[in-house]
Amino acid sequence: MPLREQDVLKEALAAGFARAALLPVRPLLSYRPNAEAVRQQICGDPLCQAPWAASVLVAAMPYEWFSAPPKGCVNIAAFFLQSNRAYAAMRSVQRSLAAQGVRADAVQHIPSKQWAMLAGFGQQGRNTLLHAKPWGTCFTVQTLLTDVVPQECVRHLPPVPSVDDACGACRRCVLACPTGALDGQGGMDPEKCLRTWQLRGLPVPLPLREKMGVRLLGCDICQRACPRNAAVPSLPPQELFGIDELLRFTPQTRRRLGAVLGTNEARPLRVRAQALLAAGNSGDPALLGLVQPLCTHESPAVAEHAVWAFHRLRGEE
Ligand code: SF4
Ligand code: SF4
Repeated sequence: MPLREQDVLKEALAAGFARAALLPVRPLLSYRPNAEAVRQQICGDPLCQAPWAASVLVAAMPYEWFSAPPKGCVNIAAFFLQSNRAYAAMRSVQRSLAAQGVRADAVQHIPSKQWAMLAGFGQQGRNTLLHAKPWGTCFTVQTLLTDVVPQECVRHLPPVPSVDDACGACRRCVLACPTGALDGQGGMDPEKCLRTWQLRGLPVPLPLREKMGVRLLGCDICQRACPRNAAVPSLPPQELFGIDELLRFTPQTRRRLGAVLGTNEARPLRVRAQALLAAGNSGDPALLGLVQPLCTHESPAVAEHAVWAFHRLRGEE
């Protein structure tokens, strides 16, 4: 007997997702990708990538904050660890469904936030993120294209509210963003957002370098400002990476970081370039001995950040 919608949803919940929905596949006609989505080749019509698909499995996994790391370590937002886990969980759903004769694709380029809104998982606020009770904005979403036909082929989807309806008069996230990246209408300028530049492998614009602080990946400022997250607890960071360790970047560091964030986020040049900004912002002159040799590195991002960090640690800005 072919697998039914309920069977697919049970697989998602068994894999560790807290919420799941199976939606009929359709083009998202109102979807307008921003520059970053274009760069990542996100497409509003799943059928362009998978003409065989009948449905989109949308699944959400919540997380809790991490408190600040100890001095000398970089900051990694909890979202990225949970996102890596959720990705692995969706791959396991894909494998399990395949073993039962279902065609499925977990590696695709569709706008997961839009599909999560269609599934009724949350509304978008001025910080561009979805929020849903009881998680606030602290959840990550994964999608899977499948050839399972949903029970409700014509589903009445909830209307997507405007950010003014979702947030009312609140503008805390807009005011909290240190780079002015949020436009207050649910849009964000990716070139101004700290997250866009992290681990991108390019020299970070000068005005953003100090604002990076000791972040390796993630910037929670516009989330932490949101009153919807007031009840989200803070846990100690699960994995610690010293700035000095990332500057040395041994094969063991690569393995450890890859296990936590995924291999894509553990590429040595990108990590070193970001770790150099953390070194420059650390105020720790003991790192000068690791920073100086990188000033002549063949990677423009590593060399430029190293020179910046070197002068900053010596108080020569
Ligand atoms: S992640 Fe940071 S830099 Fe980006 S919009 Fe939010 S507060 Fe601004
Ligand atoms: S901080 Fe205020 S404006 Fe921003 S997303 Fe949260 S509720 Fe909306």
